[in-house]
Amino acid sequence: MKIDLSGKTALITGSTAGIGYAIAKGLAGSGADVVINGRGRDKVDAAARKLEGTGAKVRGITADVSTAAGCKALVTALPDVDILINNAGIFEPKNFVDIPDEDWSRFFEVNVMSGVRLSRAYLAGMLKRNWGRIVFISSESGLNIPVEMIHYGMTKTAQLSVARGLAQLTRGTGVTVNSVLPGPTMSEGVETFVKDLAKQNGQSVDEAAANFVKQHRPSSLLQRFASVDEIANMVVYIASKEASATNGAALRAEGGIVNTIA
Ligand code: NAD
Repeated sequence: MKIDLSGKTALITGSTAGIGYAIAKGLAGSGADVVINGRGRDKVDAAARKLEGTGAKVRGITADVSTAAGCKALVTALPDVDILINNAGIFEPKNFVDIPDEDWSRFFEVNVMSGVRLSRAYLAGMLKRNWGRIVFISSESGLNIPVEMIHYGMTKTAQLSVARGLAQLTRGTGVTVNSVLPGPTMSEGVETFVKDLAKQNGQSVDEAAANFVKQHRPSSLLQRFASVDEIANMVVYIASKEASATNGAALRAEGGIVNTIA
């Protein structure tokens, strides 16, 4: 199978680093014109330049997708996309009793409303052109709710619900809406988290990473963190023309942590 996305424009939110950047790189490598997004102009420019260096057709748009104004500015700058990857997301371990109302709202705005607002803006154009892909980057934490960040788990379950609902609106068209559920993945954000753990426990980063999977994700069949490219591969496939029969699905790339068959 040769994935060819030439002529398609893909917007990946939160793509200056981590899984988002890997997805942008993967889609660009398959011929798509990619749009990098992040909150800071310097980081957006640097990521776009880095990708351009690989021969990709790239554009960077600075916008905070956690706000209505940020989404509006993004859509004004880019009125149509063929592929929307709702990737921007935040995570932070916190005891349930210590999570204030503001955190619940902030997590919902960044992780859920960003995808809701952008899907609302772009779905109609996709349906009109009779082709499009919307992918929500959820998490296995949307199924196995982590007790150390219930507010995060709540947003990742909500994304699955929104994605499935939107897929129902695409009946009989060439548009699909799916979710991808990564497990622990060594993105920049997670690397910082693991480095802190290593420092606290007097371990090397590799030891801390291995211990984290053993202790906190014991059901993992992979028994290690995934790389960002391993997640991006799944996303590039589901964004491809070849994935035309998969719609309304929650696709797991979580190393078998979730102990169910389907
Ligand atoms: P990361 O922190 O490494 O990168 C996230 C990117 O999003 C950064 O570029 C950041 O600047 C950007 N971003 C954050 N808030 C934004 C906003 N309001 N507007 C625009 N950009 C914003 O994160 P990651 O680990 O690559 O995670 C990406 C997605 O994958 C998230 O939705 C996360 O929930 C999901 N996920 C990650 C893991 C993991 O272990 N890394 C596991 C499951 C799911």
